[in-house]
Amino acid sequence: MNLHEYQAKQIFSQYGIPIPRGRVAANPAEAKQIAEELGGKVVVKSQVLVGGRGKAGGIRLAKSSQEAEELATLILGMEIKGLPVRKVLVDEAVSIEKEIYLGITNDRSSRKPVLMASAEGGVDIEEVAARTPEKIIKILIDPLLGLREYQSRDVAVSIDLPKPFWRSFISLAESLWRVYRETDATLVEINPLVITKDQRLLALDGKMSIDDNALFRHTDLAEKRDLDIEAPAEIEARKYGLSYIKLDGEIGCMVNGAGLAMATMDIIKLYGGSPANFLDIGGGAGADKVAAALRIILSDANVKAVLINIFGGITRCDEVARGILAAIGEVKPSVPMVVRLVGTNAEEGRRLLADAQMITAETLVEAAQKSVQVAQGGA
Ligand code: GDP
Ligand code: MN
Repeated sequence: MNLHEYQAKQIFSQYGIPIPRGRVAANPAEAKQIAEELGGKVVVKSQVLVGGRGKAGGIRLAKSSQEAEELATLILGMEIKGLPVRKVLVDEAVSIEKEIYLGITNDRSSRKPVLMASAEGGVDIEEVAARTPEKIIKILIDPLLGLREYQSRDVAVSIDLPKPFWRSFISLAESLWRVYRETDATLVEINPLVITKDQRLLALDGKMSIDDNALFRHTDLAEKRDLDIEAPAEIEARKYGLSYIKLDGEIGCMVNGAGLAMATMDIIKLYGGSPANFLDIGGGAGADKVAAALRIILSDANVKAVLINIFGGITRCDEVARGILAAIGEVKPSVPMVVRLVGTNAEEGRRLLADAQMITAETLVEAAQKSVQVAQGGA
C-alpha cells in the first residue's frame, strides 16, 4: 500500500524529520486559506500516487494566496498519468540550495534493507540511476543492529554533504530508518531532501510503501489507504477476505486454495484459454463469501465463461453451491459456468446445482477443456 506525500510527511514529522509547514486541501478555497496562513508564498502539490508529478505540471509555485487558489483550481482539475487529482498539499515555499536523494528499501539479493543516497537528488534521479549509477551510494543495514551512526556518517561524506549538516543528517537518517522499521515499510524515500538557502535540512517530498501483509498490525496506517486508485473489484474482494487479482483473460476462476488456483490457471492455459483472474476463496468459505466472489468475477466484462473448481476439505461443497445459487439469483449471469465440486458434501452440492443449468465436470482436465470450449463460443 502506498501513502500520499502528505501522509508520508506527517509520519516523517512524527519521527522528528523536519518538513515544511503546510496542510492538505480538497478545494481551491481551502488552498487559498492555507496559503494565507503560510504567508502567501507556497507550493501547490498534487497528491496522486505516481512519480514525476513535477514534470507533469502537478507541482507549482505560487507567489500569493490568490495565485495559490488559481493553481489549486488548475491542479485539482488535472489527471496525472491517468489518476485524477483529488487533493493538493499546500506547503510553504522554500528556497533551495541543494537537492539530495535519501531512501531505504529492501535489497532482495542481499536480504537486507539498503539505504541509498545521492548528491544529485531531485526530479531526475531515475536518469542519474540509469546513466551514472556510481552516483548513488548504497549501504546495507544489518536488520539486527540497525543503521549505525558510522554508516550514516560515511554516507554524508560520500555525498559531499558540508560538515555543518552532518549531525542533523545522521539523526535524520536514523529517524528514517526507524520509520522504515516500525511501520513495516518496503520503501521510505525523501526526494528531494534539501539544504535550504537559510541552511536547514528539510524533507520536501515523501514517499512510503507499506507491506500489505503487515497492515493487520498497523490499523492506523491501513485507514490511510486511498480507495480512489484501486479497482472497485479489489476493494470488494478485500472486504470479504478474498485473494483476488484481475488478469486479462476470458475465463473467470473461482477456486479454493492458492495452489489449486494456480494449477487451475495453468491448465486453462494448457488447453488454449486464458484466465481472467486469480481468485482464492480460502478455506472454509461460507455461502456469503462464495456469492461475493462470483459477483466480483461476473463484474469483469471480459469474462466469457466461469470455471468453479472446488476441492471440499474444510470448505463444504454444499455451502459453495448455496453461495453460487445466491449470486446467480442476484446477478443473472449471461455467461456459461462450468463447475467441478469434489470432496466434503460434493453430492449434496451437485444436487443443489442440478437445476441451475450448469456444466458439470468430474476432473480438472475435463473442467478446463469445457470452460475453454464454451468461452470460445463452442457448445
Ligand atoms: P515529484 O516530481 O513527484 O517527485 O515531486 P516533488 O515534491 O519532489 O517536487 C518536484 C520538484 O519541485 C522538487 O525536486 C523541487 O525542485 C521542486 N519543489 C518542490 N517544492 C518546492 C519548494 O518549496 N520550493 C522550490 N523552489 N521548489 C520546490
Ligand atoms: Mn520527488
